[in-house]
Amino acid sequence: DPNSRRELHHVNSPLQIFVKAKKNINDIFGDISDYVVESTNFIEGLAQGHIDIVDKAETETFRGFVFKINNIREVLARDHMKVAFFGRTSNGKSSVINAMLRDKILPSGIGHTTNCFCQVEGVDGHDAYLMREGSEEKLNVTSIKQLANALCQEKLCESSLVRIFWPRERCSLLRDDVVFVDSPGVDVSQNLDDWIDNHCLNADVFVLVLNAESTMTLAEKSFFHEVSGKISKPNIFILNNRWDASASEPECQESKDALEKVKAQHQERCIDFLTKELKVSTVKEAEERVFFVSARETLQGRLQEANGLPAHTGALAEGFQSRYFEFQDFERKFEECISKSAVKTKFEQHSSRGKTIANDMRLMLDNIFERVNDLRNQKLEQKKFLTDKISTTETQLMVVTREMKMKIHNMVEEVEQKVSKALNE
Ligand code: GDP
Repeated sequence: DPNSRRELHHVNSPLQIFVKAKKNINDIFGDISDYVVESTNFIEGLAQGHIDIVDKAETETFRGFVFKINNIREVLARDHMKVAFFGRTSNGKSSVINAMLRDKILPSGIGHTTNCFCQVEGVDGHDAYLMREGSEEKLNVTSIKQLANALCQEKLCESSLVRIFWPRERCSLLRDDVVFVDSPGVDVSQNLDDWIDNHCLNADVFVLVLNAESTMTLAEKSFFHEVSGKISKPNIFILNNRWDASASEPECQESKDALEKVKAQHQERCIDFLTKELKVSTVKEAEERVFFVSARETLQGRLQEANGLPAHTGALAEGFQSRYFEFQDFERKFEECISKSAVKTKFEQHSSRGKTIANDMRLMLDNIFERVNDLRNQKLEQKKFLTDKISTTETQLMVVTREMKMKIHNMVEEVEQKVSKALNE
């Protein structure tokens, strides 16, 4: 059953590393938030009390902690994994994205070249919609054709962004917070710099989609040179797409060796590009980053499977099965890479900021506690001094009383004597 198989894949997916980490860090910041709010209320209570322990600046700082924590929580809730696809027009970028999303979401094919950036992200609910950059208007998307027309008719600036919100329930990758970005072909743009600044700086993974029927072009290479100049060690995957077309070339049909030779050549060039030119990975890493696939076949196969049919009906194209597996292999490695990288780049900063805030707060609380302690000791001293004074007075009083008693006694005696003497006389 393709549905339960997909469900199982979803549960076992390496993307869960990110999903779980996101849940954990959100929970932790929820706890920190409760703690900070409680402490702030307490501090404010103290400030309003009669005893002069905390000053205004301190209460302000505490309020600042609440503000900071809330900000981090907001950013955290929005954090996602982002993958961006580049390559020349018609190499199959949109087809690769569709194959990964298991649905014809992005328009692909002749005449439907995307002339702006298209971002596909998950949304709750059943309806897909579209939003243009700088506008809050949600445009309904009922069909792929309509979406294609919308994207083509718009005279959009090529580095502007159209966001496509696709129901999470329809796709496990979107459910797990992966955001896909499709780009116009690197061959049509002069604004590579803007592209990188606007769309690439927060990408966790880049996928270079090549046409396996030709060699990598200068445009494709220079784009990634610029990327690796701005981002330290970007994660780059290379897909040699349309591998089905190469396999069906007459000379490759005649001999398997010919196809293997072409593959070895491509493989070597791609690995050299990643290791020697860009210096973004070791040979061992690069070997795990280069794949030979057919996005079109994979998408077709998956659509068939979703309808309960075998992935490939009709005449079996030579090598279909291995290309199909290679695409899955790519996805697995991609999922592992993107989730680990996103956890690091997205959460490392938050957790260190969280630690700094917790530390600052502890220092301030310690400080206040010390002051309270001093004050308490002072009061105790005062009390002791007073007590001492009282006891001295008591003793004095006692002495005085005793003296007075004696005096009175003597006086009475004297009076008595005097009286009796007087009486006798
Ligand atoms: P993009 O401009 O890079 O987004 O390319 P598209 O995804 O729009 O693909 C351009 C054309 O190539 C479309 O007609 C696709 O059907 C076709 N195409 C894409 N991937 C493959 C593939 O793996 N094999 C073959 N034979 N055709 C493909």
